[in-house]
Amino acid sequence: MAIETVNPATGKMEKSFNEMSESEVMELIGRGKEAFCKWRNVPYEERKRLLKNVASILREKKYDYGRILTLEMGKPVVQSIAEVEKCALACDYYADNGEKILKEEIIATDGSESYVRFDPIGVVLAVMPWNFPFWQVFRFAAPALMAGNTGLLKHASNVPMCALAIEEIFLKAGFPENVFKTLLIGSGMVEKVINHPDVKGVSLTGSEPAGRSIAGAAGKMIKKSVLELGGSDPFIVLADADIDEAVKTAVTARMINNGQSCIAAKRFIAVEKIYNEFEEKFVKAVKNVKTGDPMDGSTELGPMAREDLLIELDSQIKKSVAKGAKILCGGKRIDVPGFYYEPTVLANVKEGMPAYEEELFGPAASLIKAEDEKEAV
Ligand code: NAP
Repeated sequence: MAIETVNPATGKMEKSFNEMSESEVMELIGRGKEAFCKWRNVPYEERKRLLKNVASILREKKYDYGRILTLEMGKPVVQSIAEVEKCALACDYYADNGEKILKEEIIATDGSESYVRFDPIGVVLAVMPWNFPFWQVFRFAAPALMAGNTGLLKHASNVPMCALAIEEIFLKAGFPENVFKTLLIGSGMVEKVINHPDVKGVSLTGSEPAGRSIAGAAGKMIKKSVLELGGSDPFIVLADADIDEAVKTAVTARMINNGQSCIAAKRFIAVEKIYNEFEEKFVKAVKNVKTGDPMDGSTELGPMAREDLLIELDSQIKKSVAKGAKILCGGKRIDVPGFYYEPTVLANVKEGMPAYEEELFGPAASLIKAEDEKEAV
């Protein structure tokens, strides 16, 4: 995939970046190792001070960064700004608590002295997704750097401006060169980075196929890996629920981040007794979701992040319909420039359909009727 910024709200390419060569990447890994040898000895107080600086920069420039997030991946700008604020919170948290969390733990054993000590491991690679382009990186970087590691970021290829902005934030905050560095590379180069002897671990947030490939590469080298993968969480509505409240939460849960959140509710399972009421009110509320320009502060649902993701979602919906699912609203691309998809509700969703078995990573909800609580669970 080319490393470029394509505005999902218009479909226009805004900026294109040259991919780093293998030798540039190897050079940066070496510098990351050199930086680690010094950084691991920097006292906690100093690490804390720098991380606090990061939090201040994020807060000061939250509107600017928020606009970059929205430009690259299309989430409503209000949500982008909130994401930047949340990153500042994470930096403060690890700055304030890092030393305490990493304190040696004395263990009672029959040995004369036993304890667990937490040492940094070295250069850690972070392979990150575009859906929370700041949050996913900061929730990795804040604890990893506070612990004395250095970080290399391979961000998703469609959010290079975010990746470079984050690198700049760490530098502006006073972190030494190469403690946090962005690699502008495609996924094809990831295995080579993992194989490098100076890279000691890898953290991925992304899809299952990426997880398989990265865990495989790390396993071959017997290196540590952390995988945060996809999900298709159920949202169960029982007979005694406050339906209006449930509908409100259901719509937010499904449409937040333009429907592209790993921890979002995706399958809505309602028991028979209240099913019709829930369905009717849910569809009405989904139809009312304000779709449009994500830079507009009142927009609730913006475009999907990339055209290929929209095509994938549309195909999952079409395949589900071919197997008997019913479209209650939405179900197609919006005929305007950019990657807009109608907020969609599918009913009669059953086993064997993509809408039942797979993660729908976009603004589409699957409605499933259950006889009772036991069947819903
Ligand atoms: P993705 O395609 O897996 O991409 C994520 C990152 O992995 C990108 O940097 C991508 O690089 C890289 N990548 C993809 N295939 C790879 C491979 N074979 N080897 C090495 N690197 C590879 O996922 P996405 O579409 O960006 O994100 C959506 C998925 O992430 C969803 O399934 C969502 O649920 C999940 N997610 C999970 C969490 C969580 O905390 N559990 C959070 C957010 C998202 P390129 O962009 O260059 O391909």
